[in-house]
Amino acid sequence: MLMSFFQRLFGRHAGGREEVHPNTARVAEALLAARRVAWTPEVGEGEGGIAASRFGGRPALRRGELHAPLCGVCSRPMPLWLQLDLESLPGDAKAMLPEALGRGLFQLFYCTREDCECADCGAFPANSVVRFDAINGSEVLRDADPADHPAQLIRGWKVRAEIPGDGEYPVEAAEGITEEDIGEFYNRPGSLSTMLPADKDKLLGWPDWVQGVWYPDCPDCGKPMAYLFQIASNDHVDFMFGDSGVGHVFFCAEHLKRATFVWQCC
Ligand SMILES: [Zn+2]
Ligand SMILES: [Zn+2]
Repeated sequence: MLMSFFQRLFGRHAGGREEVHPNTARVAEALLAARRVAWTPEVGEGEGGIAASRFGGRPALRRGELHAPLCGVCSRPMPLWLQLDLESLPGDAKAMLPEALGRGLFQLFYCTREDCECADCGAFPANSVVRFDAINGSEVLRDADPADHPAQLIRGWKVRAEIPGDGEYPVEAAEGITEEDIGEFYNRPGSLSTMLPADKDKLLGWPDWVQGVWYPDCPDCGKPMAYLFQIASNDHVDFMFGDSGVGHVFFCAEHLKRATFVWQCC
């Protein structure tokens, strides 16, 4: 039964010459079992309210702040890339996140000024800030400076299922499976190709690694950080990371201050 299911999945006839190797079917089965939901944003023009979820635009500021956080390299206020009103995230997405991430605002700032050269390629670059703050709506101010990136208000989310990308095969399903078996699957993923990690902006799901798996370790507890959001080149923010790079936001549930944004390119 299972084999015929996978034969259908890979688009071949059970009686045809080219049969799916049992190990390839097992790899596919394990990847399907490890699937996750990802939410891709649906946007419209405009900034929305001060604390609305959006790409770009002017950031909501903390009480007492006069401008966006300063870049650790060029000391100028950094452009807002992404702001999420955590309370307004889809319920199923919130259920996947630690309770501390269920309220307030998430903000990603990243300095992309042409004359700002950041040589730090580590997991905690000085030219970006990721922060979670429980901001009381009545205290929120909007930055008065013009936005570097045009605002794209997030109006909703589209759900998609994703299997792990190459390099993230679940260890618990690895018995009797070789690297070649896994490679064989990724070379010809058949109809599961639509479930490979999307190379677009998205919340949760599986990362689309451009240069191999890289979860930074939290400097406080040493544990690998959790994946929160992906920012792809020229998707909702018009910027190319190197050569079609993809950026990722990571956090440690215990040490939210350590959240970080890193990107990889080809
Ligand atoms: Zn800078
Ligand atoms: Zn930690």
